[in-house]
Amino acid sequence: MQVFFDPGHAIHRPEAFLMRGRLRANFEVPARAEALASACRAMGLAIGAPPAADTRAIEAVHDGGYLSFLRDGPAAWAALPEASREILANVHPVPEMVQNGARCSAGIVAQAGWYTADLACPIGPDTFGAALGAAACALAGAGSLIEGGRAAYALCRPPGHHAYAARAGGHCYLNNAAIAVEALRRAGLPRIAVLDIDSHHGNGTQGIFWSRADVLTVSVHGDPNRYYPWFVGHASERGEGAGRDCNLNLPLAIGSTDEAWLEAIETGIAAIRRYDAQALVVSLGFDASVHEPLNALAVSAEGFARAGAAIAALHQPTLLVQEGGYAVDHLGTLLARFLDGFLGGVSS
Ligand SMILES: [Zn+2]
Repeated sequence: MQVFFDPGHAIHRPEAFLMRGRLRANFEVPARAEALASACRAMGLAIGAPPAADTRAIEAVHDGGYLSFLRDGPAAWAALPEASREILANVHPVPEMVQNGARCSAGIVAQAGWYTADLACPIGPDTFGAALGAAACALAGAGSLIEGGRAAYALCRPPGHHAYAARAGGHCYLNNAAIAVEALRRAGLPRIAVLDIDSHHGNGTQGIFWSRADVLTVSVHGDPNRYYPWFVGHASERGEGAGRDCNLNLPLAIGSTDEAWLEAIETGIAAIRRYDAQALVVSLGFDASVHEPLNALAVSAEGFARAGAAIAALHQPTLLVQEGGYAVDHLGTLLARFLDGFLGGVSS
């Protein structure tokens, strides 16, 4: 199995993170990706640097104005008097404003609010470069499936599944999984499934494919009534128009352990089997772990091994895209156990 990893991720060092009213150190740190890369090396997996991302593949998912904001915003922000190093919004267009015709001006303060969903996605001068590198990993992984590979792992940092087409959020800027899906579609595969097992709902991915029948999005996550992203991730959200019933949310009670988590994953896998996709993109987060600092779920390392085996049993070309997981000291073990199960199934 090919692994794609861009060492350039390390230039992205977000500082701010708002939690319970306090600004704290951001825990989406470079050490996360380094721990995962070390685990790959220890497993003897070959790690390749991806070629630069094809801009058109990113524009196939993300809004042009938003991409310009990510690229040029930090310089405009730095020109503000007494500005912080990172862009952090102080106002967002609320639904009433949108209903009344809200629009975004060219000013960087307006753009900061327009193009971000929360305070967990600070944008520094190096953020866009790192996000492009992560997207490049996802595209290289998609490319290896297009060439006939059975499995690939895109070791993406920053993660992507909370990013909408025109909005950053929750440590995510470019939606790496969605960019890979779109590349697979444009290569001629008619139907793609996404299985998101990060402990947070994959709200960005859901939003991007909400009205589409050619992509099935499945997310297994902690109950959004008590966990990020708070407003969406409910079982009642099923997609609309042509995409009706092509979105499946499987929220779990806070504190759920292996059995409930694996049962939900099996429910998702059954839906993917019925959908008859030609390829699978897994949004692979490790924050369902019992060791996670802000955990909503309590999944063991053995649970991750069983999830890997269950996913491999679909026998579909599969791209693993790294999402969250912040227990740095445990990430290597969790990845190794997941791949024990997954690669054992792929090779059988
Ligand atoms: Zn997460």
